Amino acid sequence: MYRSHNCGVLRSSDIDTVVTLSGWVQKSRDLGGMTFIDLRDRYGITQLAFNMEVNEELCLAARKLGREFVVQVEGTVIERSSKNKNIPTGDIEIKVSALKVLNASKTPPFTIEDNTDGGEDIRMKYRYLDLRRKTVRENLMLRSKIAIETRKFLSDLEFIEVETPVLIKSTPEGARDFVVPSRMNANQFYALPQSPQTFKQLLMVAGFDKYFQIVKCFRDEDLRADRQPEFTQIDCEMSFVEQDDILNTFEELTRHLIKETKGIDLPTFPRMDYADAMRLYGSDKPDIRFGMEFVEINELTQNKGFKVFDDAELILAINAEGCANYTRKQLDALTKWVKRPQIGALGLIYVKYNEDGTYKSSVDKFYSQEDLAEWCAKAGAKPGDLLFVISGEKDKARKQMGELRLKMGTELGLRNPEVFAPLWVMDFPLLEWDEDSQRYHAMHHPFTSPKMEDFDKIEESPAEVRANAYDLVLNGSEVGGGSIRIHDRELQRIMFKHLGFTDEEAQNQFGFLMDAFEYGAPPHGGIAFGLDRLCSIIGGADSIRDFIAFPKNNSGRDVMIDAPSPLAQDQLDELSIANVEKVTAE
Ligand code: ASP
Repeated sequence: MYRSHNCGVLRSSDIDTVVTLSGWVQKSRDLGGMTFIDLRDRYGITQLAFNMEVNEELCLAARKLGREFVVQVEGTVIERSSKNKNIPTGDIEIKVSALKVLNASKTPPFTIEDNTDGGEDIRMKYRYLDLRRKTVRENLMLRSKIAIETRKFLSDLEFIEVETPVLIKSTPEGARDFVVPSRMNANQFYALPQSPQTFKQLLMVAGFDKYFQIVKCFRDEDLRADRQPEFTQIDCEMSFVEQDDILNTFEELTRHLIKETKGIDLPTFPRMDYADAMRLYGSDKPDIRFGMEFVEINELTQNKGFKVFDDAELILAINAEGCANYTRKQLDALTKWVKRPQIGALGLIYVKYNEDGTYKSSVDKFYSQEDLAEWCAKAGAKPGDLLFVISGEKDKARKQMGELRLKMGTELGLRNPEVFAPLWVMDFPLLEWDEDSQRYHAMHHPFTSPKMEDFDKIEESPAEVRANAYDLVLNGSEVGGGSIRIHDRELQRIMFKHLGFTDEEAQNQFGFLMDAFEYGAPPHGGIAFGLDRLCSIIGGADSIRDFIAFPKNNSGRDVMIDAPSPLAQDQLDELSIANVEKVTAE
């Protein structure tokens, strides 16, 4: 028997019990006559005590133990003289009577404690050591809890969990596919799924009625910060449902998850149209933990001789409460920030609504105190507040102001990770213009149904057609998205046509789905949650990497196993991959 108890369970009520524990040496302290060791396992830390006077040999053996040695001890639970209130086992310690080294350890390359001295690269290379740290382990335990609670919740609602294949044909969801060469079919390739979209729709045609799957998806995108080439979705689909049925079901799921993990009861989730989200927050995923909504002040600012505003399509203001005392330096820093290429604003105009009721702005030359008072009134500013104004082409100004709003929210401490502000964003446009290919793409995906009341605009003004598509936003991040699907072959054909597919191309790529629509496809719709992101938000962290056991780095590499890596020539030959430059692994 390696252990009678784990390292997290013993309490004062166990005093005098003889126990066996196994675990890792977290640290040891030598106090002359006594040696103390913190023994760690997944469940916690228990202090081991060795007394030189009682057993010199044992104590000397304990002093030889290095960090991360795996040991087994036998001993008696005793009361600790100096108690440690910070850990649950802090009232007791083990008076050790026998010690066995189960395995030695090299000195780890970084300290395995809550706050480590190891940088990101070294921790990723030795991820199995990083995973020994409590903070990282707790993140993965949260993930496990979320996955298990999802399964419980959905299975109670009679959802069926179905696995769909990983070696498939491309599904067009806007990203590049990862491809896998087929040895048995020379020069042919599988694609890894960007999502199980078409399969889950086929399961609805098959009559499964309610499907879910916690599933790996793959997208070969240029890695922006905090994107992973493989990620996990909670993927769901339901038949005979309308949009509200989906929203209600998955709002309940989200509420259940936050209740079970954080103990927080969330009220009904607000819903907002995409158009309003863009107008008020300049984003399709607004962080509504705080207000600072945009106000449009064109009519108050134009035709007063300030050319920048006169030429602008849109002039937006936000009110930063209590910021009238911002210094020149702070305002310059913000101006510089919005002018960075990533944000791209031409400048930033401010109006200080001073405590004494006067106004001070960077455009005093063009605007009177009465003018500035009007702007402030429209933005709901009080004395002591600060207005920021950004102008320009409509979509750009909104986007730039959206970024500034988030930055100010962060600066003013309005984005507390312990506060959860969910929001449904609804009625997304069906199509989105793509500059690169000079054509319309499906904003969600090509299987999303249009709002029938808009559909007559599809020829004349395609951008105005809205879709039965929705996103679940949590604290300013998209955590889920879905739609009511097309289930009619003819409508799907028309959609493909508008997306620039010929009938033949559509048939080649999606014939299997369109054929299925001719065999009694029920009305259906669904949603997919990004599990990694959901975990990071519930866990109150910024990076999804912290919630993935073995993540890839920013260049899509796994530095621990060193992947991707070159293949041997005979392997390439077998896969009929010709002309690959022979690269020898270092
Ligand atoms: N397949 C979609 C996605 O991955 C989600 C859905 O429409 O259910 O975004």
